[in-house]
Amino acid sequence: MSLSPRSCAQETVPEKAVSEKPLALEIHDLRKSYGAHEALRGISLHIRPAERIALLGPNGAGKTTLIRCISGRTETSQGTIKLFGKSIRQPNASMQLGVVPQELAIYSDLTARENLECFGRLHGLRGRKLQERVLWALKWIALEDRADDLTSQFSGGMKRRVNIACGVMHAPGILLLDEPTVGVDPQSRQRIFDMLDQLSLEGTSILLTTHHLEEAEQRSDRIIIIDHGLVIADGKIDQLIDQTIGRHKQVQLEIEGELNAIPENFQATEPNTLLGFTHNLADDLPLWIQQLTEMGVRIKNLEVQSPSLHHVFLHLTGRELRE
Ligand code: ATP
Repeated sequence: MSLSPRSCAQETVPEKAVSEKPLALEIHDLRKSYGAHEALRGISLHIRPAERIALLGPNGAGKTTLIRCISGRTETSQGTIKLFGKSIRQPNASMQLGVVPQELAIYSDLTARENLECFGRLHGLRGRKLQERVLWALKWIALEDRADDLTSQFSGGMKRRVNIACGVMHAPGILLLDEPTVGVDPQSRQRIFDMLDQLSLEGTSILLTTHHLEEAEQRSDRIIIIDHGLVIADGKIDQLIDQTIGRHKQVQLEIEGELNAIPENFQATEPNTLLGFTHNLADDLPLWIQQLTEMGVRIKNLEVQSPSLHHVFLHLTGRELRE
């Protein structure tokens, strides 16, 4: 069954979270316009303590604008934003917030340690507390042995790790990261996601934007997809699959030559490619192969795919997610 994009939007705020612990982040009807252009058109969402959220959306969907509004870097046009129950407009509310921007924001003429000290001081840390936190951060990003090297000598992945550590020197309750793994090799990406998992285990809520769907699927507790300034999906990956494409497997067959007619049970995506969908692969696949063999169709290649976030994203937005 195909559902409209709006049909899987907005996970409802759980009673338990509301009554027992304040939500780490609660946004209601957030709007932001740049002149006549409405970049955010009424965003409502919430994040629980220690939850890891992947915020996805095609280019221009409004992800960076949303992060900038939460972090107070952009004035909102309408709506409310609360951090741990306090409006971000209240004094000190943003003490609970850590932000890692998309662009690298570290000093290349300072060492890793000096960068961490500098950002720690900006967040009000001094003396022993600051030094303890610097040591914690160097260990967390696994750069203790490079602490006194200039960051200009670091690889892209190492700079990213320092950049992230600068955003958490004050031990915020919630951390926002805009594309923390952009341009980073797969090994460094894994390391960054390991670091974030550790923070979440220690109780920090994480909201990150990413163009890496596999990691978003594996390393988040919930996925929020926005498009054209609206939340179009909000839920765990299994819920999103159930609400959109369903749990069938997709079988793609590449065949020799071209078909005169499309066989029953299949769609043709190219003249020599067939697509079939099944909830019962073990029973259907042998039957399909027999059916094609009897028609004289020779199979060159066969690929079975389980439903994934990539399929959900395509279904909801009609677009690929590109870096
Ligand atoms: P991407 O994945 O490409 O980074 P995004 O989802 O982060 O995109 P935003 O950068 O938030 O999207 O942009 C949302 C919309 O607002 C886009 O149409 C963009 O052109 C517009 N926009 C963003 N910043 C400004 C600005 N400072 N002035 C005018 N328009 C802006």
